[in-house]
Amino acid sequence: MKWCGPLILAAMAVGCGVTVKDKGSDVNVSGVSLIYTDWVPPSDSNWDKDSAVIDLSRRDVLRSMAGLGVVTLTGGAGTLLGACTAARSGADVLAADPEIAALVDSIGGVDMHSHAAGAGGRPKPTYDLAERMRTGRMTAVCLEHSSDAPVIRREPDNRIRTVRQPEPGELWRHTQRRLAWFDDLVTEQGFRRALRPGDLEAAHRDRTPTLVQAIEGCQFLEGKLERIAEVYRRGVRHLQLVHFFRSDMGDNQTEPADQGGLTPFGRDAITECNRLGVVIDVAHATMKLVEAAAKASKTPLILSHTAVVEGQPAAFSRRISREHARLVVSTGGVVGVWGNPSTLRSLGDYVDAVARAVDAAGAEHVGLGTDNSGFGATPAVWDDYRDFPVVVRLMRKRFVPDEIRKIAGGNYLRVFNLSVRTS
Ligand SMILES: [Zn+2]
Repeated sequence: MKWCGPLILAAMAVGCGVTVKDKGSDVNVSGVSLIYTDWVPPSDSNWDKDSAVIDLSRRDVLRSMAGLGVVTLTGGAGTLLGACTAARSGADVLAADPEIAALVDSIGGVDMHSHAAGAGGRPKPTYDLAERMRTGRMTAVCLEHSSDAPVIRREPDNRIRTVRQPEPGELWRHTQRRLAWFDDLVTEQGFRRALRPGDLEAAHRDRTPTLVQAIEGCQFLEGKLERIAEVYRRGVRHLQLVHFFRSDMGDNQTEPADQGGLTPFGRDAITECNRLGVVIDVAHATMKLVEAAAKASKTPLILSHTAVVEGQPAAFSRRISREHARLVVSTGGVVGVWGNPSTLRSLGDYVDAVARAVDAAGAEHVGLGTDNSGFGATPAVWDDYRDFPVVVRLMRKRFVPDEIRKIAGGNYLRVFNLSVRTS
């Protein structure tokens, strides 16, 4: 331990100059409030201004410290334990472990739900997302904004609520602004879009960072089904039916359910997605909605970001029961595991949550759906795609390579190819 002394001092010097939002202090870690985490703008006034806080993740800080070989991640930001335990970055794993590096290269890695790099609401991308994906050897990210973002807020109890009714046309204008943002991102960072069957395989083969462009919540439709075709033309291939703000598609998990599950309009939207070739995502939906969607859809369902629990989740929880997961399985679909920092503390915890989902749904029906940047100011436990090799290495302790290839991307790829159309 003698040699650690100067390094600890050096690491403390690095730590002193950095302000980090600590998940331990930002989040109420007891009680029902944990269940409402998801992306919302911090507030009207500071939406664009506080990127320094939100995007400097704790992992970034730890990564810089890890180079000094003296820190490890525990409950608080930048906690120095004084032990010589180095946090390993994805690059470290690739360099140190050729077997894991080969496994990573064999995976078409996909995150099924992400708001990374400011996709949710920032005027400009907040970092080079494509470069991070290239470094971590990820293939694709389902990247999205939330169409109800202008009218929902995270409140001090950490619950997300609707704060007002939208003006007519407001949510459509919001979505149009975000679609323009995506066009700029594709051009500026050299992304490809996955649009047709086979595009994800090609992206993996060519090692080209690729977007499955998605929208969280169909409130942008404002009753106009033809807008699905309009966003399809703009590159969207993955639509989540409901989010927090009450939807005419049907009931969501975080409000009293009074529409009987899926509405006739929601059923029409599913038919339109099937016709055009759009992946259907039932995250945030009540189990009753999922049950009806499973009957209505000709293609498998995605439930992109949640946690599977034993027994019945609490009222208004965003988590799902094993039965709820099995409804998705019955369509041939995939349940994605989120990186909720309220309940998970590390990438190891994240992989444990993946294993619980696999136990309920099977390795053919689980995927990764981090909800990167979807937890307000608190980073998801996996918020940097450069760490994909770390996740794979942790998964290797739980699963055989073929299972890892399916969970980390293959299962989504299967549903994508069955959902989208050739022309
Ligand atoms: Zn969500």
